[in-house]
Amino acid sequence: MHILLMGPPGAGKGTQAERLVDEYKIPHISTGDMFRAAVKQGTELGKEAKKYMDAGGLVPDVVTIGIVREGLSKPECKKGFILDGFPRTTEQAEALDDILKDAGIKLTAVVNIEVPDSDLVDRVTGRRICKSCGATYHVTFNPPKVEGVCDKCGGSLYQRDDDKEATVKNRLKAYHSQTEPLIDYYKKQGVYMEIDGTQAIDKVYADVKAGLEERAGR
Ligand code: ADP
Ligand code: AMP
Repeated sequence: MHILLMGPPGAGKGTQAERLVDEYKIPHISTGDMFRAAVKQGTELGKEAKKYMDAGGLVPDVVTIGIVREGLSKPECKKGFILDGFPRTTEQAEALDDILKDAGIKLTAVVNIEVPDSDLVDRVTGRRICKSCGATYHVTFNPPKVEGVCDKCGGSLYQRDDDKEATVKNRLKAYHSQTEPLIDYYKKQGVYMEIDGTQAIDKVYADVKAGLEERAGR
């Protein structure tokens, strides 16, 4: 399975990716996670990316394409991957086409998780993430058993710096102007699939899995 997860910030891409990783045992490649790791490590890449992330804008294409090219070159990506949060611009999508062509990989599906903007601010501002294992929770919609503590590993939960209301609004603007046009791009490639992301997490997953398995001919 070579899966591309699309959708606005807070649509549930990371939440669904966690389940897909468990099910298909393929790597999860999230550009947002890669940038956050670089910020934490204080690398030059992290310092550069942070400027854009804090403002809710997109990190420049040349930087982002470089880290994805490197991520996808790992041998474990041959048998499959879940690409989450990339591509976000037409230039990134075209670069991905080239990377995949060179590697002889065809996408199984582009899964677009659809959620209206009116739901997304609450989703994003209520998001909490485990410092140790990266699992995602929501204070209301998907709370941990013990407040502030990860169910899976006991790690402490934190709120991302960019999950504040003002930043979310900018991230939504960036999504609509720069990323949404990719829906047509992938419709033309015949790999596009749409999922109603307003449903409960388990139902969204059931729809994603059914759609993927139909496409993969399983
Ligand atoms: P993305 O990776 O697309 O930005 P996340 O998977 O991190 O989104 O989800 C954003 C927030 O919404 C998280 O707090 C998550 O727990 C919550 N969430 C995810 N899917 C759903 C859903 N179907 N219903 C309600 N809340 C959800
Ligand atoms: P995410 O974790 O997907 O919500 O991404 C967090 C932030 O990282 C975004 O708001 C952007 O600033 C940056 N980012 C992640 N993926 C990309 C991408 N493909 N292109 C540009 N910037 C990105």
